[in-house]
Amino acid sequence: MMSGNEAQFDYIVVGAGSAGAALAARLTEDANTRVLLLEAGKASHPYTRFPISFGLLIDNPAANWRYASEPEPGTKNREIPVPRGKVLGGSSAINGLVYVRGQPLDFNTWAQMGNRGWSWDDVQPTFQRMENYQGGPAGGRGVGGPLTVSEVPDQNPLYDAWFAAAKAAGFKHNPDYNTEDQEGVVKTQTTIRNGVRQSTVVAYLKPAMGRPNLHIVTEAATRKVLLEGKRCVGVVYERGGQSITARAGKEVILSAGAVATPQLLELSGVGNPEILQRHGIEVLHDLPAVGENFRDHINAAANWKLTDPSMSYNPRGRGLGLIGEAFRYAFARGGFFSLPSAPLLAFLRTRPELETPDVQMHLVPYAIKNRKKRLLHDFAGFAISVYQLRPESLGSIHIRSADPNAQPAIRFNFLHDPIDQAAMVEGFKMIRRIVNAAPMDHIRGEEYAPGPAVATDAQILDYIRGVAETAYHPIGTCRMGPGPNAVVDDRLRVHGITGLRIADASIFPTMPSGNTNAPSIMVGEKASDFLRGRL
Ligand SMILES: Cc1cc2nc3c(=O)[nH]c(=O)nc-3n(C[C@H](O)[C@H](O)[C@H](O)COP(=O)(O)OP(=O)(O)OC[C@H]3O[C@@H](n4cnc5c(N)ncnc54)[C@H](O)[C@@H]3O)c2cc1C
Repeated sequence: MMSGNEAQFDYIVVGAGSAGAALAARLTEDANTRVLLLEAGKASHPYTRFPISFGLLIDNPAANWRYASEPEPGTKNREIPVPRGKVLGGSSAINGLVYVRGQPLDFNTWAQMGNRGWSWDDVQPTFQRMENYQGGPAGGRGVGGPLTVSEVPDQNPLYDAWFAAAKAAGFKHNPDYNTEDQEGVVKTQTTIRNGVRQSTVVAYLKPAMGRPNLHIVTEAATRKVLLEGKRCVGVVYERGGQSITARAGKEVILSAGAVATPQLLELSGVGNPEILQRHGIEVLHDLPAVGENFRDHINAAANWKLTDPSMSYNPRGRGLGLIGEAFRYAFARGGFFSLPSAPLLAFLRTRPELETPDVQMHLVPYAIKNRKKRLLHDFAGFAISVYQLRPESLGSIHIRSADPNAQPAIRFNFLHDPIDQAAMVEGFKMIRRIVNAAPMDHIRGEEYAPGPAVATDAQILDYIRGVAETAYHPIGTCRMGPGPNAVVDDRLRVHGITGLRIADASIFPTMPSGNTNAPSIMVGEKASDFLRGRL
């Protein structure tokens, strides 16, 4: 295949996830641009097309890297699972299908930090170009783009009660949170089309697969980028036990995600010299921000019982009920199998003086016993979780060994910052305020977890420390910015190295307010503009 020294490709894209797949598809729209797309995972997994695959693949090695965090005192020394997609489509093929662009403030902050071309006015047209929003073009939404976005069709009296309760508690309904105004209680917009997951494989790669200038190699784990001096000339990857060198005529773009991209740089000799030397890796380029500035959403849930079991998917999520739901999906594309990770969301402010929402809630119509495996409780219930939208606490992701098969050390540093603690506690209290409002009186059963004994702020924080998980949104480990605290510039070029860019969630300078799939795809789209000279 493509071994040897001759560059058969203009660009090599490492990682076919949310950003990488979009990037490779856009680049190869130009028939003269030859792209090699390398993906460590398999070409497909049979579950991914069903939205319920979010639960089925969350801990499944066939399509998931299944990382885990270091134990940290802030979360009671638990090792928190860190699922990441390992299949064509990356995390977009196993994620919860919730579609959120973020707030204008997020991207204006990126621009304010010195990243030209990343303000809301700059990225809004890119979001628009990506989308095929079933709700139509009002409010600057995109129609006719590759990625279908649709509102959850599932109906449930539980949802009606929650909307009414939120209104009674003083929170507004928002018909489209992906416009400039995110605030409110909402029905989720999802990357689902006619009941089928719209991963970036479905949306971007499938239509591009027939192009002779796009060469996709799966089960190809990139081991390092090749540097000649300060120029990147290609990559070394492993496939079927063979080590293969591929050279890029123009550039290499890393899109391996916020966990694997910094790992790959460090294994290649790019990073903090102290860390590289500790593991016997020759320092080829001193770039101390690699693996730093890591943020994620810490997510904590409460479970309630429901007085009317028919409103909950708990009884239908196993045994005979599950068979019924399978038929419901097969014939009507509805029910349990068609649900995203949460059919309702809320974007709210924990303090009235805030300009925009600072917490996001997810409501699911079933109670969850074990979040790692998404196991359901035996009783009929529902769960609501909350995370602070823009966490302050910073962690890191660094190699723990020179062995590329060793998982990196993931340190969230969750709840380190008092702002994060306060927002989580207040958000948790707001969940209770809504659920305890009068419109839910007729359906609300017992608060199963944490239960009324957890009442004070200190008790709530302690509960959160004991149960909270990641919302699966790692970002920032190869932060974009002009200074020494960054890894790439605002054209996504690695500082100090030519021929090497990064396009994935690792470049986010700060956390976008929401789930991170849409902004990751947006980064892939923007990277294609930079490479095609369309600024
Ligand atoms: C379980 C889960 C649920 C989520 N739910 C939602 C949600 O509901 N809504 C939302 O907006 N976001 C959600 N997210 C987050 C969102 O999916 C991610 O932020 C986004 O997909 C990140 O895109 P990316 O391009 O940065 O990385 P990824 O999509 O993770 O892509 C990285 C790709 O690189 C590949 N790769 C890694 N290392 C190598 C290597 N050495 N060689 C070759 N290939 C490599 C990986 O296998 C993967 O395919 C969820 C994520 C997960 C894991």
